[in-house]
Amino acid sequence: MTKYDYLIIGGGIAGVTAAETIREHDTNAAIGIISDEPHVLYSRVLLPHYLKKRIRREQLFLRKADDFVKKRIDLLLGESVSFVDSGRKEVMFSGGSVSGYEKLLIASGGRVKPWGKEEDRGFIYRLQTLDDADRLQSVLTDIKSPLVIGGSFISLEFLEIFVLNGAAPTLLFRDAHFFGKLLDGDGAEILHDNFARHGIIVRAEDAVADAERDDGKLKISTKALHEIKCDAVAVGIGLERNMEFLKESGIALGEKGVRTDEFLATDQEGVFAAGDAAEFYDLIADRHRVLGNWTSAFLQGKRAALNMLGQKEPFRNISTYSITSLGFQITALGDCDGGLETIARVDAARNQYERLFIKEGALKGAVLINRFQDKPHLARLIEGRISIEPHREALHDMAFDIHTIS
Ligand SMILES: Cc1cc2nc3c(=O)[nH]c(=O)nc-3n(C[C@H](O)[C@H](O)[C@H](O)COP(=O)(O)OP(=O)(O)OC[C@H]3O[C@@H](n4cnc5c(N)ncnc54)[C@H](O)[C@@H]3O)c2cc1C
Repeated sequence: MTKYDYLIIGGGIAGVTAAETIREHDTNAAIGIISDEPHVLYSRVLLPHYLKKRIRREQLFLRKADDFVKKRIDLLLGESVSFVDSGRKEVMFSGGSVSGYEKLLIASGGRVKPWGKEEDRGFIYRLQTLDDADRLQSVLTDIKSPLVIGGSFISLEFLEIFVLNGAAPTLLFRDAHFFGKLLDGDGAEILHDNFARHGIIVRAEDAVADAERDDGKLKISTKALHEIKCDAVAVGIGLERNMEFLKESGIALGEKGVRTDEFLATDQEGVFAAGDAAEFYDLIADRHRVLGNWTSAFLQGKRAALNMLGQKEPFRNISTYSITSLGFQITALGDCDGGLETIARVDAARNQYERLFIKEGALKGAVLINRFQDKPHLARLIEGRISIEPHREALHDMAFDIHTIS
């Protein structure tokens, strides 16, 4: 049985960053990464750019296999962990072999929630892995009438991919408007108007009731009694975290991810979690939460590695997710929890919008449409827990300069 000083489950940005950080500080440790994908680290963030033909496939890759050889990191590709025994400090592979560890990092990310019937899988497209992107790329020019399901960031990517390809998408989601929890009605109106300008048909407050084949297409009947004939269904309905292999592990799991404290440590000695998989205690939001964010995954991989090496410091970062889609620049910053108090301001003529998320008089998060210039200052206000109370009224007006708050 191979025994590693540091074993990492997941070869994404969190796992690879952790392995490399450990190597920088410990030249002798035995380090292993187990990844069930067949590819060396690539950028998920760039997958849409590949599908929009802005970059070539080879530009997606961030490492070569040789980089791991040079750093003496065992990279086990196409291998899946099926079980972890935190008492014995062992992981079992789906093929039956076993590896031991001294310290373990769970950086297993997430996968798209299940959707649709098995017999319709030829119509269904996801966008989480390079294999997903390759599959879509191979048929993209044949897709003319896609249905995009879901009201969040990945759906925006699908929409732009299809529009750039000359297709006419229909967009379907359950909430009253796109980004149901992030935007209020004014923000949604700006976004929905932009969808209309790009020929996208929006079906809000609706869901698929049934699907049947019709003349080589898929005929979707919705709960609101619409009928949508489509040649592809693109699923952007969010992730569930990969943690089924931890069920009997003795490691505490949270509602959505692997539960950790602010140091990214789980309740089991020597076991940490980072990246999308971690349901960590966020010192800025003052609550446990999961993120689906590249920079956070990178920073958590680094922080978890340093903590595994014994430098105990909390993870502290204001998460930012920015996307440019259909000519709009949209940013979600910090904690945009639907339960928080919010103040929104809008300049409809310039397609600009801001919604601020507030707790106990201090800013916790913000959503910006075409207002990226405010992001750095808003991040400083969140970080500094600056009271916005004296400016409460003024903040409703887009003409008010938030830089005057300090
Ligand atoms: C299309 C797309 C666009 C995105 N755009 C942005 C963006 O613009 N900005 C942004 O901030 N974020 C974006 N994200 C999110 C960002 O890419 C993720 O947050 C980040 O990649 C998470 O990294 P990770 O290392 O935590 O997990 P992952 O990259 O998911 O890596 C986890 C790996 O572990 C593997 N694994 C899981 N279970 C096992 C097991 N049992 N055994 C072995 N291996 C296992 C998985 O297959 C996967 O390869 C985007 C994501 C996608 C899919």
